[in-house]
Amino acid sequence: MRVLRVALEVPVAKLFDYLCDVSTPVEAGDRVVVPFGTRERVGVVVESADESEVASSRLKPVARVLEGAPRLPADWLEQMRFLAAYYQRPLGETIAGALPPRLRSSKPLPKRRKTTEALPDGALERFVPGPAPNAAQQQAIERIGAALGSFRAFLLHGVTGSGKTEVYLRLIAEVLARRQQALVLVPEIGLTPQLETRFRQAFPQANIAVMHSALEDTARTHAWLDAARGDAQIVLGTRLAVLAPLAKLGLAVVDEEHDASFKQQEGLRYSARDAAIQRAKLTGCPVVLGSATPSLETWQNARSGRYELLSLPERAVPGARLPAVRILDLRAENAEHGLAASALEAMRERLARGEQSLVFINRRGYAPVLACDACGWAAGCRRCSARLVLHAVDRRLRCHHCGAEEPIPRACPTCGNVDLRPHGRGTQRIEEALAGYFPAARVLRIDRDSARRRGELARTLAGISRGEGDILVGTQLLAKGHDFPNLTLVCVLNADSALLSTDYRSAERLFATLQQVGGRSGRREQPGEVLVQTRFPGHPMYQALMKHDYAGFAAAQLAEREAAGFPPFVFEAALRAEARKLAETMAFLKAAARLVPVPESVRVYDPVPHVITRRAGYERAQLVAQSRSRPALQAFLAEWSAAIPAMAPRGIRWHIDVDPIEFD
Ligand code: ADP
Ligand code: ZN
Ligand code: ZN
Repeated sequence: MRVLRVALEVPVAKLFDYLCDVSTPVEAGDRVVVPFGTRERVGVVVESADESEVASSRLKPVARVLEGAPRLPADWLEQMRFLAAYYQRPLGETIAGALPPRLRSSKPLPKRRKTTEALPDGALERFVPGPAPNAAQQQAIERIGAALGSFRAFLLHGVTGSGKTEVYLRLIAEVLARRQQALVLVPEIGLTPQLETRFRQAFPQANIAVMHSALEDTARTHAWLDAARGDAQIVLGTRLAVLAPLAKLGLAVVDEEHDASFKQQEGLRYSARDAAIQRAKLTGCPVVLGSATPSLETWQNARSGRYELLSLPERAVPGARLPAVRILDLRAENAEHGLAASALEAMRERLARGEQSLVFINRRGYAPVLACDACGWAAGCRRCSARLVLHAVDRRLRCHHCGAEEPIPRACPTCGNVDLRPHGRGTQRIEEALAGYFPAARVLRIDRDSARRRGELARTLAGISRGEGDILVGTQLLAKGHDFPNLTLVCVLNADSALLSTDYRSAERLFATLQQVGGRSGRREQPGEVLVQTRFPGHPMYQALMKHDYAGFAAAQLAEREAAGFPPFVFEAALRAEARKLAETMAFLKAAARLVPVPESVRVYDPVPHVITRRAGYERAQLVAQSRSRPALQAFLAEWSAAIPAMAPRGIRWHIDVDPIEFD
């Protein structure tokens, strides 16, 4: 008999030993069914050994070995070990979370799809090239192409429309010609079918496995198995695709690498960008991070020479320019209903020319609330400490944190005033105001409320690309990757709220969002224009935005971060907790802070309640641990996360978030 060490989906940071006949062909990476407590569970064999620390009389045998899926490769298991250790999560849960649901069960797997072996030689790799690359693109293709076959990290810094995707496609063609696979991570895929179409046009015969969380079970299982077997030449997906095993990975691409959606916010709180770099390192292939506005972490790595910087400074389509950015000073001009007169004038010009305008409302930290001007009362959630958001269409108040909702009260509950007014300007109020100003125009609103169903949103966006709608009103949803050829004007409202935020990342995010949303305009021959309404026209962020000066903006931000001791110059982790009463949460965090000795190189700060303290009946707080040394922080976290479970009282929910990016 021999001993198999099996990873099971249980919240305990250890492997479980089972016995197995020596002659059974089972190895690390195989899925097995094992008895656990009173029932059976599916697990993954991580190691096999000659003996166990547990007496062999107490070990149970493996019930059976599951077949049908390829054995999980060693570099994949290695990556799971790395992620589990780095993000402080048990290996069993890490592995289970990386497998599609069907592979976590003992249910039979769908049959292998018809393979493409019947195709003539070279057909799979057939590449339909786009426009001939310009000099900057050519340089990037050559540098990255020369690195194929070994690990190297590149930052492809290219303004919106500079032809980054063309660079990826040409490199992927080289990877396919080597009979290897390419992994392409994007922030969002359901909303950008244009991207998938472009990949399918470039590689008409390749098997492209598309992966995202909204796929139904069978499709997701197929995509995953195709990736694992090497049947899919290209894996195109959102962050979870980085957890798929690729048998012959030859290149990893992370497009829009700065995007916050690459960080998972529950369970294994991994950064898919960082995981892709780690994976490329383990496999020995290049990784390309692409962005017009790289994260400051990545930019710093490029400045220090850890990543090779490749720049695409201009738009690729001949004659296409970056939009002109104009700052509208709200102190100098009147903004009735939230829209400056010159912004309205600019829209009127576009309407006359039959072009589209986009009114972009920065939603972060901003929403219309119902308030009483007489006594200062504002509608709040009964379950949370958040303000309720007013939805005028169905006359409801909703909590965007816990989902609670209620009707609009007839009068102020404090003073009886019947003239309650919405404060702040949401997308709906702007839509109404625009309809009043431009009665003949087709005003389209696009936000999470108007697009509850995914398919609907994708259809609306496709319609806009074809020229439907004269004035579009929308939030962050509209900023991402869409190509709207007829759009020539972007008006930005409420940008200032992000500058007043307490989160040190908010200026970075705002700059990225405004660059990106500005990038929606003037992608063809007509020049685009971006108007930003602000009360702080002299703010350096807006000055950099006008000059399209990412490098200058980044340098100033990095200097501030360095002086203040913030990432990327220090490394951070947050311990977050919630309980019914804030006092319990705080008591737990205070006790946790003293639980294990804190080395001199690590600093543990005092716990602080979240800005929105109550959420869905729980009161939340967090504390931050910081260090200039990543290994020192890691060593401390390992000890800490091992000690916390034994001291955490019942009724406390807690987790550790390594490299956190949200501090709400
Ligand atoms: P990005 O990914 O940087 O936003 P894309 O690769 O989508 O840029 O390119 C933007 C547009 O420019 C696309 O319509 C693309 O076909 C076109 N394009 C890309 N490279 C070239 C080139 N070398 N010459 C002409 N047009 C190009
Ligand atoms: Zn009142
Ligand atoms: Zn609530």
